[in-house]
Amino acid sequence: MSVNALSRLWLSGFLIAPLLTAAEPVRWFRGNTHTHSLWSDGNDFPEMIVGWYQEHGYDFIALSDHNVLATTEKWMPLDQILKRQKTLGRSAYDKYLAKHGIPWVETREVDGKRQVRLKRIEEYRPLFESPGAFLVLQAEEITNSSNGKPVHINAVNVPGTTPIPAVPPGLTVQEIINETMRRALALEKQTGQPILVHLNHPNFQWGVTADDLARAVEERFFEVYNGHPSINHLGEAGRPGDEAIWDLCNAIRLKELKSAPLFGLATDDSHQYHGGSNTPGRGWVMVKAPALTGNHLVEAMRRGDFYASSGVILQDVSYDPPSRTLHVSVRNEKGLSYRIHWIGTRAACDLTAPHRADTGIGVVFGEETGPEASFVLPADLLYARAVITSSRPHPNPSFEGQFEQAWTQPVGWK
Ligand SMILES: [Zn+2]
Ligand SMILES: [Zn+2]
Repeated sequence: MSVNALSRLWLSGFLIAPLLTAAEPVRWFRGNTHTHSLWSDGNDFPEMIVGWYQEHGYDFIALSDHNVLATTEKWMPLDQILKRQKTLGRSAYDKYLAKHGIPWVETREVDGKRQVRLKRIEEYRPLFESPGAFLVLQAEEITNSSNGKPVHINAVNVPGTTPIPAVPPGLTVQEIINETMRRALALEKQTGQPILVHLNHPNFQWGVTADDLARAVEERFFEVYNGHPSINHLGEAGRPGDEAIWDLCNAIRLKELKSAPLFGLATDDSHQYHGGSNTPGRGWVMVKAPALTGNHLVEAMRRGDFYASSGVILQDVSYDPPSRTLHVSVRNEKGLSYRIHWIGTRAACDLTAPHRADTGIGVVFGEETGPEASFVLPADLLYARAVITSSRPHPNPSFEGQFEQAWTQPVGWK
């Protein structure tokens, strides 16, 4: 095993899950489920993007272009590719040609203009995939709007060659989410392949409110962090940020609707790969699964066996239902310190005035300093979750003052 492979193994935190019945070894797999390429509005070739993630210690990647799967023959004019690259320096095409060369790189002339063929997923997958080491998931960003409000939903581990289509116009935000879920679940039922469906960046152009998302109860996942700088992660006066939306949704679901809470992902939503403000590597998920396959990853995430990260890596997170104890341990990095916040919502919370600090929704119940801590959930909590913040400022922040963080899933609600 190379030093590289060894360090990657260590990075993935090889461990035995105490709660699984058979002593089945499980690993933490690192992946990003939201990325754009030249197949829609990204500015690089799929092979270059997948290669970037593989070289940066990820175990899986999903390219999720808008309303399209990389399954057709697609030629793109070279001048359009070059125009999309706003930064100076070597062009995306030159870098692509230098890395992959002829005959892999295919060009043709149409009406005196050079075009480049974008590779299909089945063509580029074999360049990167190997069992247990790296996986490319087929995905798309199902891109809709309701009265001008964007409603973007990622479908990940999509089977077949046809995208799940955008819904017809004229629907409300909640109807769009429900209809998209219905279509994805129908495809899942038909093929037997589990599809992860997550609601993206709710605050992008203030498209999706907590109330919209809470009431679309079939949806179980959303982005608590998205690395695009224009998605209003922190909210603004009178509009909750992504984390506050999470607690509002889960308060409404658990108290009023008696349905399961949302789980939170972190993603990149990267479009730019040659510098710029929307570059890769900002947000990802760590999934605890027995094997690196699309089906295992989606099933693990449905169980809540994952956390979201913008830089903090956990050694483990576990919940013991009989004692209502949530335990978190951080993979401690030398020279850094960590703050662990326990956040929850009281059963007696007031859903009628959700923006007030004293309504019992998204309350900080404690703060610990150090790489490891436990929290016993009081009986009157609907759920609790942990947020771990490093002392290290984010090396490539998507908003001012960002520190590296991890977000664990709500527990104690079953
Ligand atoms: Zn989007
Ligand atoms: Zn996107």
